[in-house]
Amino acid sequence: MTTDASDPIPPHKTFDTILVLDFGSQYSHLITRRLRELNVYSEMLPCTQKLADLGWTPKGVILSGGPYSVYWNDAPHVDPAVFELNVPILGICYGLQEIAWHFGKNVLAGEKREYGHAYLKVERHGDSEAGGHVDKLFADLEDDMEVWMSHGDKLSHLPEDFVTVATTSNAPFAGMAHKSKKYYGIQFHPEVTHTPKGKVLLKNFAVDICEARTDWTMGKFVDQEIERIRRLVGPKGQVIGAVSGGVDSTVAAKLMKEAIGDRFHAVLVDNGVLRMNEAKQVKETLTAGLGINLTVIDASERFLGRLKGVTDDPEKKRKIIGNTFIEIFQETAKKIAAEAHESSEAGEIEWLLQGTLYPDVIESISFKGPSATIKTHHNVGGLPKDMNLKLIEPLRELFKDEVRELGMNLGIPEDLVWRHPFPGPGIAIRILGEVTPEQVRIAREADYIFIEEIKAAGLYRNISQAFAALLPVKAVGVMGDKRVHDQVIALRAVETTDFMTADWYPFDGAFLKKVSRRIVNEVNGVCRVVYDITSKPPGTIEME
Ligand code: GLN
Repeated sequence: MTTDASDPIPPHKTFDTILVLDFGSQYSHLITRRLRELNVYSEMLPCTQKLADLGWTPKGVILSGGPYSVYWNDAPHVDPAVFELNVPILGICYGLQEIAWHFGKNVLAGEKREYGHAYLKVERHGDSEAGGHVDKLFADLEDDMEVWMSHGDKLSHLPEDFVTVATTSNAPFAGMAHKSKKYYGIQFHPEVTHTPKGKVLLKNFAVDICEARTDWTMGKFVDQEIERIRRLVGPKGQVIGAVSGGVDSTVAAKLMKEAIGDRFHAVLVDNGVLRMNEAKQVKETLTAGLGINLTVIDASERFLGRLKGVTDDPEKKRKIIGNTFIEIFQETAKKIAAEAHESSEAGEIEWLLQGTLYPDVIESISFKGPSATIKTHHNVGGLPKDMNLKLIEPLRELFKDEVRELGMNLGIPEDLVWRHPFPGPGIAIRILGEVTPEQVRIAREADYIFIEEIKAAGLYRNISQAFAALLPVKAVGVMGDKRVHDQVIALRAVETTDFMTADWYPFDGAFLKKVSRRIVNEVNGVCRVVYDITSKPPGTIEME
């Protein structure tokens, strides 16, 4: 897998790069992330990568963990050319076993699996072994260290020319190093936070052993990315892209604006189910604030017209909104393309901007096993096929936290950079049941109050996602001595690091009381407020 053909300056050509070869561990991407946090650029590729096809030389290679056993007939193995690259190699868990297997076929199933915390004893060798390089992996670390283990296999003995550099009571070869070459293996996982000092070990490997420069910063990335976009698009090229007001599309749009000015055409489709005042606010921030060439299309009526009467299947709502969006984006793109073509010497619109992030790329290339086919990445909503647009993805090397940092760097307002995610189908999937203009009003007003109170209480950044949903059932209440029969608002707020699992946020009672009182008093049509205390799993973050 390489994108270099169409890519004039990929980061691995500018930045010293540690290559992570992925054997399918659930933690592989964390290795890359930790290195980037250390300002060392790192990329992940599947373990099946042929090094002859790579086209660049990494400063070092890390072999990840994986669910296989190296002695299985169909176990994945690294291209042996990795041992000819003449760069340092670190094997983590399966990676350690893979190195051991390469040098000595000496791995077998252990009597018991080891999963969880373990206490590691570091063994130092002084200058006696190859000028002390074997000690470098555990430099600046205590002799006793808490680590996280997750394995069942073990080494029967050390391969030739290796020495033990760490042990646990259960794993006599918890760390090993080659006597003359810079090859290291560790049985534990330094990339997870359960290994509290794991980052020091990764730094020892990347910075001291591989001697990678620590210059991966968003300040440096931005200059090179602008240059890359300019070269890719050329002096006349035009780019179009949808923006939503979310952090990814705003950062991508601002980068395009910096690179090619008004030859980037941003489109915001108001689908009638955005948050309260959102279309207006996004327009202000993007145009007056960030100087982006933006067209806003108010298509609320078309969307709401098609959503009318849809009560049964939430998937149907998603489809209607998705398809209508594509339709409108295509119409707009064609119009803008025709205008751009007529009114300037500029070329035709050839490019479509996509806010793809590195986790999407990783997901599409991560190693799923010897038999699994690798699925191609599919995030091309709104791509007008008959316009034959090429994709430009300026964020495809970045993790979310890097996108945020880049956003700050580009002068995007802080509250936008830290905005909670908002689904494409908007509040349509937060209105359970039929979406009507009246239901949209109620859901919007309640959501606005909830978020306003969260911000006022200083909790917005502690919460990963929060919203109000409208439950279309009627409950009885008494308001102003009058019996009312109105609908129910459900508040949802979750904390999560990866959105794969999530916990509901433990607000205190006084906060909930205040929000509830305001919603019932201020939002016409609501007489009850409930708080959703379902974790994910089994719940999802959104309600439909
Ligand atoms: N499957 C191997 C074992 O059980 C490696 C596990 C891992 O890499 N986490 O030992």
